[in-house]
Amino acid sequence: RAKAKGEGSIEIFDPSMNAQALARFHMDADLRRALERNEFVLHYQPVVGLRTGRIEGFEALVRWRHPERGMVPPLEFIPLAEETGLIVPLGKWVLEEACRQAGEWRRKFPTGQPRLMNVNISARQFQHRDLIHTVLGALHAADLEPGSLKLEITESIMMRDPEASLEAMKVFRSMDIHLVVDDFGTGYSSLGYLKRFPVDTLKIDKSFVEGIGRDPESSAIVAAVISLARSLGMRVTAEGIETQEQMQHLQRLHCDQGQGYHFSRPLPPEAAEALLAQDPRWPGSSFSQ
Ligand code: C2E
Ligand code: MG
Ligand code: MG
Ligand code: MG
Repeated sequence: RAKAKGEGSIEIFDPSMNAQALARFHMDADLRRALERNEFVLHYQPVVGLRTGRIEGFEALVRWRHPERGMVPPLEFIPLAEETGLIVPLGKWVLEEACRQAGEWRRKFPTGQPRLMNVNISARQFQHRDLIHTVLGALHAADLEPGSLKLEITESIMMRDPEASLEAMKVFRSMDIHLVVDDFGTGYSSLGYLKRFPVDTLKIDKSFVEGIGRDPESSAIVAAVISLARSLGMRVTAEGIETQEQMQHLQRLHCDQGQGYHFSRPLPPEAAEALLAQDPRWPGSSFSQ
């Protein structure tokens, strides 16, 4: 055994590394099979207007309905899919399914302003040159207007190659597709770029929303992001709203939209549809007209 122990020694051989690589290899094969067998499902979390208390859209969130393990959350497979490249076909399926669902709901529950469908886009997907075609294909197949789709891209993905991101974003915007900076506040946006990016919404990360009323730093960051968005002509969505107090605080700051367990957890399609049919108006929105 080449494994040395003790002070100043170096681990030359780590047997757990093989086990890990093997586990990842199996997991990758499982994921590919899952995609072929249609084991992925989308859950939908309402995006609520903080003024009106009404559903203004949904965020599509992928889950893996595993035959033995039950519902597997995205953070347990998205990072590996991203590494192996499987995220490209998986992300394509997510776009197609989210657009199909949005089109169906649009016809079943028509409104003047379309409700937006938010779809998360990973780094690898965003860099892939076919993304635009994939998005257009998904919209076309679903018979959905581009203005109903909102792509969520994290701050860190946008800043990885800001010039290339800017070009890609301009193409989406020219097609009337909306763009959101997801998890805003957790990355390192240059304000110079932020101003140039044709994004219409900043989504405040839930880690800051969580701290509202508890630690002064989070409250200050939330207020600063909202006023930054205002001055850049962007809208603001807060994610991870779990309490009435957090919601009211955000309303006082004139945050546009909110998402979180306080309103609803991400729901399976049938439950989301039942909610839409009910067209709820969440109470307690002290700013409602
Ligand atoms: P995200 O895009 O920032 O999504 C928000 C996450 O917060 C979701 O977790 C959602 O279920 C959760 N959440 C919503 N409201 C609350 C709340 O009030 N409290 C708390 N504690 N959490 C709340 P989920 O569904 O597990 O997704 C995690 C992440 O996985 C997402 O973060 C996103 O980055 C990624 N993801 C999910 N679906 C997709 C997808 O289709 N494609 C890609 N590329 N990534 C996805
Ligand atoms: Mg998101
Ligand atoms: Mg987010
Ligand atoms: Mg987040």
